[in-house]
Amino acid sequence: MENQSSLKKCKVGGIAPGLRVFVSGAATGIGRAIAETLIASGSRLHICDVSEEGVEEFRASHPDHAATVADVSDDGAVGSIFETIGAEWNGLDALINNAGIAGPTGGVDEISPADWRQCVEVCLTGQFLCAHFAVPLIRSSGGGSIVNLSSAAGRFGYSYRTPYSSAKWGVVGFTQSLAKELGPDNIRVNAILPGLIEGPRIERVISSRAEQLGISHEEMKSSYVENISLRRMTPPEDIASLVAFLLSDMGTNLSGQSFGIDGNLEKI
Ligand code: NAD
Repeated sequence: MENQSSLKKCKVGGIAPGLRVFVSGAATGIGRAIAETLIASGSRLHICDVSEEGVEEFRASHPDHAATVADVSDDGAVGSIFETIGAEWNGLDALINNAGIAGPTGGVDEISPADWRQCVEVCLTGQFLCAHFAVPLIRSSGGGSIVNLSSAAGRFGYSYRTPYSSAKWGVVGFTQSLAKELGPDNIRVNAILPGLIEGPRIERVISSRAEQLGISHEEMKSSYVENISLRRMTPPEDIASLVAFLLSDMGTNLSGQSFGIDGNLEKI
């Protein structure tokens, strides 16, 4: 048998201490789980959220980390966050584009143009804006990582949720394009596609869908879970673990990928 002793040891663990990370929409939900995991791993965080109350609560819980009230679809607000980050940290190691909204539920002839625009602005343009201002800081740091939150709705068509699904497919295209564009600068860009994540958000989505189809919340929920091979929803902490992996030295050669994390969602 060939001598394998020249193989390097497998890397285990390893988020660099003091990693400078920005997470959007991190006052609650998946973004908050990501922020908590990274803080526990020794990273320095700057988060933003559109919820003033959420940002206040985050600041009180984490006085050593920064939090700003901002809407990711507002060019001026996003620009000003990264100006602050540049002044305080003199660079950035990772951008987590997490902020997103469910958008309207309804037929294409029922959804208003304003609701369409708002969903695409927050879910897709918001990711562009954060990358637009963050990339010069990551580049000047010698490279880093960008993680964009897409959705299972970014790999399946999703009837009555056309704005959300279109924005999330857009996130995958944005991710693959940026990975090509920024690879030579040692910037890795990946997308995470959560499926049904435990928490209040999915309960709201199920309620809207149930109302749309004229069935009960419980019937709707069972029909959602039946589409998952593992027959269970995914906890938000699992998304945070994948983000931590991508930011660690174990993710050094991962870029341009879309990672579904959903117990194998077979359809939506
Ligand atoms: P959530 O609604 O629980 O939390 C989203 C957070 O983002 C909230 O704190 C909210 O205040 C904030 N936010 C909303 N709009 C914002 C804006 N314009 N600017 C800044 N902050 C804003 O949602 P979540 O479930 O934690 O979802 C996080 C991401 O994961 C989203 O991009 C979502 O589309 C995606 N996702 C979630 C699920 C799920 O089942 N929960 C499934 C697939 C994808």
